[in-house]
Amino acid sequence: MNNTSIRIPFVDLQLQHQPIQAQLQNAIQAVLEKGDFVLGQSLQDFEAAFAAASGTEYGVGVASGTDAITLGLQACNIEPGDEVILPANTFVATLIGVLRTGAKPVLVDCDERTALIDLQAAQKAITPKTKAIIPVHLYGQMVSPKQLLDFSNTYKLLIFEDAAQAHLAQREGYLAGSVGKAAAFSFYPSKNLGAFGDGGIVLTRDLDVAEKMSRLRNYGASQKYVHVEFGTNSRLDTLQAAVLLQKLPYLPSWNQQRLRIAQQYDTELAPLAPCGITPIENHSNQGHAYHLYVIRIDDSTSAIERQQLQEQLANMGIQTGIHYPIPCHLQPAFTNLGYKIGDFPHAEKLAQQILSLPMYPGLTNSQIQEVIAAIALNLRADQQKLLCI
Ligand SMILES: *Cc1c(COP(=O)(O)O)cnc(C)c1O
Repeated sequence: MNNTSIRIPFVDLQLQHQPIQAQLQNAIQAVLEKGDFVLGQSLQDFEAAFAAASGTEYGVGVASGTDAITLGLQACNIEPGDEVILPANTFVATLIGVLRTGAKPVLVDCDERTALIDLQAAQKAITPKTKAIIPVHLYGQMVSPKQLLDFSNTYKLLIFEDAAQAHLAQREGYLAGSVGKAAAFSFYPSKNLGAFGDGGIVLTRDLDVAEKMSRLRNYGASQKYVHVEFGTNSRLDTLQAAVLLQKLPYLPSWNQQRLRIAQQYDTELAPLAPCGITPIENHSNQGHAYHLYVIRIDDSTSAIERQQLQEQLANMGIQTGIHYPIPCHLQPAFTNLGYKIGDFPHAEKLAQQILSLPMYPGLTNSQIQEVIAAIALNLRADQQKLLCI
């Protein structure tokens, strides 16, 4: 670590909250006065509004994205004995959610251009016990809905979307959360739509799934003190829902800003492609929600290593991230699943190469230029003979 001051942070939430601060405070104040802190009116209002905005029917708010995955799968009747296919290169919460249901997670590799689940690999992983597939709309880009629906129709599998990074993302005319049987979202503060703490939601157009979800998050109760399922306590606080309800109308414009920032990064990065610096590919045009803007540093063509570049950027006051440095199958907690190095070569390669650049509404053109210039400068310093910059 060093003590350089941060000039360009990785995310800056103040920029989105400050302009609407009075509105947010009023919404919080209204809940304080009403006092309906658990399962209150703002929760119902937000659940309906977010489901409608996402092109589906029902929303059931829960305490986190992780719980949305766990309880959402359970509401879709995923249980011990079932197998669930998911990508190896997701945030570990996707895997945790599957394991918490008691079902067996079956990891598969990704497409190295998009970092999205490879459906051919998924097809090879199907067994008679396979019940569901979890497409993770990673970095804000949806897995192709058409291919997913074809896949699920052909193999009679349930689709459960992990849309934790893809609020209002679109592809092929579908909105994230409207493709599968159900979908999980997270409202962790730095997500495209973030609460003032933890939160999550399950969306579905299936009334049975929605009703089971409502019971599972509320001690399995069908009515007060009558418990018909083995549920838990996982509700989205009314206070958080009130905040999210105020923020939701701004989400389309925030996503638009993310898209513009990504487009500028694309343009400014293009000259660095011969040096092995390329963005993760966008195959969904304007529909990419760009939760993260991720580049690859290909060691075989690049004059610089990823770690070295990240450190040099940090020394220049530019914060970056890695999403994620260790794929799920190589995490120490999950060695019992029996995977080893080499099982998912694309996921492993990306884990070595990827770097997430600063991305948030409010990031300015000149800051973007500064980030790219800093990357180019480090390349040049590292290997003078590179002619490509
Ligand atoms: C953030 C995230 C989650 C977990 O959400 P939490 O609210 O942090 O529990 C799950 N899956 C993906 C892909 C995520 O990015």
